[in-house]
Amino acid sequence: CSDVMIEMYQKAGQIVKDVRELAVSEVHEGMKVLSLVNLIESEIMKRGGFPAFPCNISINEVTAHYTSPAGDETILKDGDLVKIDLGAHVDGFIADSATSVIIGSGDGHYQSGDKVYTLEKQTKLIETANQALEVAISNVRAGVEVGKIGEAVEEYVKSQGFLPVANLTGHSMDQWILHSGLSIPNVKEQNHHQLEEGDILAIEPFVTDGIGVVGDMKDTFIFRFLRDRPLRLAPARKLLEVIKLKYANLPFAQRWLNEEPGIRQLKPAMRQLISSRAIYPYHVLREKSGARVAQAEHTVIVESDGCRVITQ
Ligand code: MN
Ligand code: MN
Repeated sequence: CSDVMIEMYQKAGQIVKDVRELAVSEVHEGMKVLSLVNLIESEIMKRGGFPAFPCNISINEVTAHYTSPAGDETILKDGDLVKIDLGAHVDGFIADSATSVIIGSGDGHYQSGDKVYTLEKQTKLIETANQALEVAISNVRAGVEVGKIGEAVEEYVKSQGFLPVANLTGHSMDQWILHSGLSIPNVKEQNHHQLEEGDILAIEPFVTDGIGVVGDMKDTFIFRFLRDRPLRLAPARKLLEVIKLKYANLPFAQRWLNEEPGIRQLKPAMRQLISSRAIYPYHVLREKSGARVAQAEHTVIVESDGCRVITQ
């Protein structure tokens, strides 16, 4: 990384840190998820950044990739375990961070799947995710094999009586690219790839008392441009041009397109872009056994003897 790039990453990181902390202080029982995502995305822009992806608000056993559709009436309830995952970019240089909170007093008994959650249990899930992130970060330096980071995370999470989600990983990032090829596992893996100085990594353990596997739900609210395709419908062609111009290769929300001028027939146009594989739909992910999940995430820059965390 050049000094200028590091400066951009640090600016994006500061925005994400400030907006994450603001979101944690503002989130409350009875709040609409749509209000929370709008707050987070507008505060990123007020600070001179752009959302690097739609703010993800994933509740309880819903693990990732939920963002509000337009008109979303979903409300945060007492006892909900909410993962707030946000990203900002400055000139394409991305910072990505997440934290988990319990809504309201959270001191009742709450059911998900066949499990009952107390304040103590949910607090421990969140603390374990936070600590697992610290364990992962303490293992990051140039020359370390990525498999070793997953091994350290898995060992720590299991020592607390929980499981990491095995099929969700952290990821390397590059300018304008949220997932640039390298995955950072949360379980032991035979991956001998070594981290290099200057690598930008989002590290994000997910912790659950379930089976530690997520699967697709049918809903899709987040999408990403894949490739140009021949398109039959003029509105679909126009929509793809807007998507490329506004979001490049970064994920976007269908909700964002409602506010774009000049877009007609959004729903059929989106359907054509998906079916022709011009854009990729991210399915909402859910813990397969229906158990609750906590997440913590920071973005780091790998250094020769450690790493620099840009989102804390
Ligand atoms: Mn994230
Ligand atoms: Mn991430």
